[in-house]
Amino acid sequence: MTAKSLFEKVWDRHVVVPETPDTPAILYIDLHLVHEVTSPQAFDVLRARGLPVRRLDRTLATMDHSTPTDRAQIFGGAPIKLESAAKQVRQLEVNCAEFGVNLLGLRDERRGIVHIIGPEQGATQPGKTIVCGDSHTSTHGAFGALAFGIGTTEVGYVLATQCLLQRKPRTFAVDVRGRLPAGVTAKDLVLAIIGQTGVNGGTGHVIEYRGPAIEALSMDERMTVCNMSIEGGARAGMVAPDATTYAYLKGRPCAPAGADWDAAVVDWDTLRSDPGAVFDKQVHIDAATIEPMITFGTNPGMVTTIGGAVPERPGDAVFAKALAYMGLQPGERMAEKPVQVVFIGSCTNARLSDLEAAAKVLRGRKVASGVRALVVPGSQQIKREAEQLGLAQVFIDAGAEWRESGCSMCLGMNGDLVDAGQYCISTSNRNFEGRQGIGARTLLASPASAAAAAVRGRVTDPREFLG
Ligand code: SF4
Repeated sequence: MTAKSLFEKVWDRHVVVPETPDTPAILYIDLHLVHEVTSPQAFDVLRARGLPVRRLDRTLATMDHSTPTDRAQIFGGAPIKLESAAKQVRQLEVNCAEFGVNLLGLRDERRGIVHIIGPEQGATQPGKTIVCGDSHTSTHGAFGALAFGIGTTEVGYVLATQCLLQRKPRTFAVDVRGRLPAGVTAKDLVLAIIGQTGVNGGTGHVIEYRGPAIEALSMDERMTVCNMSIEGGARAGMVAPDATTYAYLKGRPCAPAGADWDAAVVDWDTLRSDPGAVFDKQVHIDAATIEPMITFGTNPGMVTTIGGAVPERPGDAVFAKALAYMGLQPGERMAEKPVQVVFIGSCTNARLSDLEAAAKVLRGRKVASGVRALVVPGSQQIKREAEQLGLAQVFIDAGAEWRESGCSMCLGMNGDLVDAGQYCISTSNRNFEGRQGIGARTLLASPASAAAAAVRGRVTDPREFLG
């Protein structure tokens, strides 16, 4: 029997019709996550053709991208300020009601960022194929699922057929040996990986993250790593399920229970790459050498250590354009660079452990004068847990804004924006030009690094606070 990789096992289980040189494969989709931005046209297509949603039991909707994070606009009876956002929220409500789709709506206590609520509800499970009209669907691969983002047209296909046309990606093993040093996080790890492999290093591939440093990560940390696979160009990222995965999932609302749970674990245990499985590409990373990281450019591959400097790349016009946008010079040191905004949030780093890491730095300290710090939990459940644990009070006492859940300043569709020319240290995943607002300058980093910058008002190595 041919040794198979984790990806190949999940792929093979879901092929309805294999691909040929002329046609892609037809792939069955186990879970379709829907949100307000990429679904309106897809529902319109169903309506125009008189089609129902094919599998309501495999479709789950929430609203996150354009939802306000201001409490008054959600629970206080105030209207949603931004008309475009209000329209998208209303349209998803109408569409889900008309087609019978399960919607975690604006005031639902289970609402949150689509890639956070899937795992939180236990709907994300090993071996599933999961799609959503958002690139960072790769997050769910942390559970050993094959999960990837799709376009609006494809959202319509999946709603109508529960299937998708796909060419089989190639495989890429990222082996991470050793252990991360104290004060170095999963965000630093994935930024370092992208720094090494490049923003196109994973193009056409599904990454499997593996090795002792990956096995040692919590589920929250594995989600952070898989979340950013797309930033390294990959179609998806995966981690083989193990005891850590099962401990996270057990007892969650959508997870199997009783005898079904036992049977599921037996099956999930087979979802690991066989010894001798061949990958199309492989890299080795030593976790022990990684330091707190920060981006300096306009893609996540333009990254260095917080203690490092902007590199020099003479003759590289794209690089020069990125530095001009960022207002940085080759050779300039990143540490001590002033920041005006701090954003702790997004599907990369707004889980409870991320908020704990930020609170550890901010406890008993104040946000520096002139700095705006925004803390946006990834879901309403995380918000409640953070409030119960006293983390919210730490942020409030420090002078940060404590918000309702949503994508918020990750992309600013709800009006949470960074002003032109301002530097924002952000725990999100994209530092593209204009991502956080026209002319906004994004520096991607971990929650601890963002919190340290909030206290100092400058890019700071978080290990200074973690003695
Ligand atoms: S937080 Fe950002 S990356 Fe994540 S789903 Fe929302 S917009 Fe997409």
